[in-house]
Amino acid sequence: MPETSARPRPMAYADHVTELIGNTPLVRLARVSEGLAATVLAKVEYLNPGGSAKDRIAGRIIEAAEREGRLRPGGTIVEPTSGNTGVGLALFAGRRGYRTVFVVPDKVGVEKRNVLRAYGAQVVVTPTAVAPDDPRSYYSVARMLEAAIPGAYVPNQYDNPNGPAAHYATTGPEIWRDTAGQVTHLVAGIGTGGTITGAGRYLKDVSRGSVRVVGADPEGSIYSGGPVHVYDVEGVGEDFWPGTYDPGVPDSVERVDDAESFAMTRRLAREEGLLVGGSSGMAVAAALRVARQAEEDAVIVVILPDSGRGYLDKIFSDGWMRERGHLGRPAEETGWMPWE
Ligand code: PMP
Repeated sequence: MPETSARPRPMAYADHVTELIGNTPLVRLARVSEGLAATVLAKVEYLNPGGSAKDRIAGRIIEAAEREGRLRPGGTIVEPTSGNTGVGLALFAGRRGYRTVFVVPDKVGVEKRNVLRAYGAQVVVTPTAVAPDDPRSYYSVARMLEAAIPGAYVPNQYDNPNGPAAHYATTGPEIWRDTAGQVTHLVAGIGTGGTITGAGRYLKDVSRGSVRVVGADPEGSIYSGGPVHVYDVEGVGEDFWPGTYDPGVPDSVERVDDAESFAMTRRLAREEGLLVGGSSGMAVAAALRVARQAEEDAVIVVILPDSGRGYLDKIFSDGWMRERGHLGRPAEETGWMPWE
């Protein structure tokens, strides 16, 4: 018989799933970094209850809006989102009784849109290949809905300081704590820039400037300085400069193309058992470049923002990969064997 103590311990449970956000683990990427002396550690953000790093910003954004009187009981949250921010906001909206309407660009897969609907959101789909100021763009449509729906509140994740603040308060301290202050580099993809700005700034502050911060950016996005064009990796890169990104935080930005991002995404699933999205593959590709240049005692933390479940018909489909021209490159370039 198991021993029972006289006084029972209190039961361990959360009151709501949103209380389980954060404190995601670090796992070493031993296989994809084989042959490199530096330690490469991935922070696995898909283990947040909504499945991405965006869970972290949602609560802080909603609480600030309530405090400022911009979101009231019975209100509707309207947000342009590629999916993950929508899920994070929906988790909190469900708990507090708000309606949610999400505007998603059509490059976001059907699966991801259905996830938003499953959490109770209404989803409006808009064309990807139009300028942000075009009336059909997902930013413009969200503004139009804000004006049309009484009690609507648009968090505007691209200009909301609570995004970077959430990462300054949680992601950065967790990395410092879990590496016992030994982290030397942070590598993260840049979408709104909230993750890299918040976590990067925290790590620079706490280490008195010694942690190097490296951004990862899709080829075709503005942050790495090349010509702007359409690309397939989701959730990262932009064609404008959002208010949530402080370009003074990263020491450098690595440009990674779709083929390399997706080849690494596939390797992470097969070799590391990490079924993650394309922006994770992109960030790891950049982290390995950093690792090749770094001292041997370097500790490189790379953020894996979301799960691969939303990309099974894309990155993990040979048909889609071939159609989009992301397969069939020489193995040296993509790390992907031509016969696969
Ligand atoms: N990857 C994915 C899949 C995302 O949804 C996002 C958020 N847009 C990011 C990376 C980038 O995070 P951030 O917005 O904090 O720069």
